[in-house]
Amino acid sequence: MTMQTIGRPTRAEAIVESAPRTLTGGRGLLQHEPLIFELGGWEKTGVDLPEPDIDASDLGDLVRTAPIGLPGLSEPETLRHYVRLSQQNHAIDLAIYPLGSCTMKHNPRLNEKMARLPGFADIHPLQPQSTVQGALAVMDALAHWLKTLTGMPAVALSPKAGAHGELCGLLAIRAAHEARGDARKRVLVPTSAHGTNPATAAFVGYEVEEIAQTACGRVDLTDLKAKLGADVAAVMLTNPNTCGLFERDMIEIAAMTHAAGAYLYCDGANFNAIVGKVRPADLGVDAMHINLHKTFSTPHGGGGPGAGPVVLSAALAPFAPKPWVVAAERGFTIVDHAPEGSASFGRLSAFHGQMGMYVRALAYMMSHGADGLAQVAEDAVLNANYVKARLGGAMTAPFAGYCMHEALFDDRWLEGTGVATLDFAKALIDEGFHPMTMYFPLVVHGAMLIEPTETEPKAEIDRFCDAVLALAAAAKAGDAERFKGAPFHAPLRRLDETQAARKPKLRWRPDEAPRVAAE
Ligand SMILES: *Cc1c(COP(=O)(O)O)cnc(C)c1O
Repeated sequence: MTMQTIGRPTRAEAIVESAPRTLTGGRGLLQHEPLIFELGGWEKTGVDLPEPDIDASDLGDLVRTAPIGLPGLSEPETLRHYVRLSQQNHAIDLAIYPLGSCTMKHNPRLNEKMARLPGFADIHPLQPQSTVQGALAVMDALAHWLKTLTGMPAVALSPKAGAHGELCGLLAIRAAHEARGDARKRVLVPTSAHGTNPATAAFVGYEVEEIAQTACGRVDLTDLKAKLGADVAAVMLTNPNTCGLFERDMIEIAAMTHAAGAYLYCDGANFNAIVGKVRPADLGVDAMHINLHKTFSTPHGGGGPGAGPVVLSAALAPFAPKPWVVAAERGFTIVDHAPEGSASFGRLSAFHGQMGMYVRALAYMMSHGADGLAQVAEDAVLNANYVKARLGGAMTAPFAGYCMHEALFDDRWLEGTGVATLDFAKALIDEGFHPMTMYFPLVVHGAMLIEPTETEPKAEIDRFCDAVLALAAAAKAGDAERFKGAPFHAPLRRLDETQAARKPKLRWRPDEAPRVAAE
């Protein structure tokens, strides 16, 4: 504990236990904040709207009879509301996000500046193409670099996320089989796959069959061979896989897949571990999505305004969805209507995808250059292995040896402590850290998946590892209380997650008691 000049402790830790509860619900400089609907009504907005000059009777019985109930705050109140809420949560601008299977979380400010240029931010998808040549040039340049980095001949830019990219890839694969009159039924997916893989295959109408995993966390070739057959449409693999391991037999897997007349779909969510080092085309991949938010630093959109372009092999390229950009002598054209006789499977989204994400991803690529992108992969892998080495003495890893971009631990080391993976994660929140990914991949008991990413400095990774090691020591020393009730210091404690999932409260009603939803 340090002392300030007049002798009072400057750190709170010693007095937390005996501290009185605050009278306001605030804590230190953190404010208690109600829901925006509880804060005030429309009359406070300070915006004067003219009386409408329409005859309300035109609306018949659609005329509103009760106030709409929208919140209405002044600008400073609005800003404070959202800043206060943001302080109740974690942010990448505050500390490391150790979540695994999530990759890149930093969003460089340069990207934001570029995306806000009026020539990108203020354009409309229905504008004449001659007025958006710069934007089309960005799409073309991004497509060029995605194809170059993957070695693939074609890319579909319009999918809006990784999962949407999987849909794109499987629809192209289905179209390719159907074009040959070869309707196939099954898609093979390893047991460690991200849930979106089997979900997408099922959504497209395929039966999903699991491929077993070897004791070293990789695809079991014998099992794959046994399950491949004339009715298999595709094998979906993730490389590096969700255990953070490189699938070393990828070329052989591709050969076996192709020999069975199937296509190899690669889930490219972990591309940051190999970007600039390995070209998926050289591994025999037919289709791969690239989550721009995981490898090329665009914001994670929660499935929202994201982008998950899909690169396609020569065999699948003819089936790519519309639209695409064509560079001609007199400028760029966006092809919105596939020409007569085209095999394109159609369209995945309205218009052309997420322009803002294209600009951000290209800004990121250009700010790194080819050598910088290769270093991304090196740093991502180095950082993860540093974490694995620092924590490996205290925690147990299911797979020995080096990892790629993320370090996977199981819960064998917690046996007998009375502490479960969930408790451990909650205690990390008390220490000021966002927890790692828990209980994924499912193939590992009580999994804890840690991915520092390429953007974390050593000092921050050390701060995180110090906290994990201190907690690990506390768990082993029998201090189960610290874990069972955690988080003690977060704005909200443990939520009833089942209740929140089964009976979500999606609407606020003024007559209901506030803030009881799932706590
Ligand atoms: C994140 C992730 C996905 C899904 O990507 P979204 O962009 O979130 O839709 C699929 N597979 C793996 C391995 C992932 O990590």
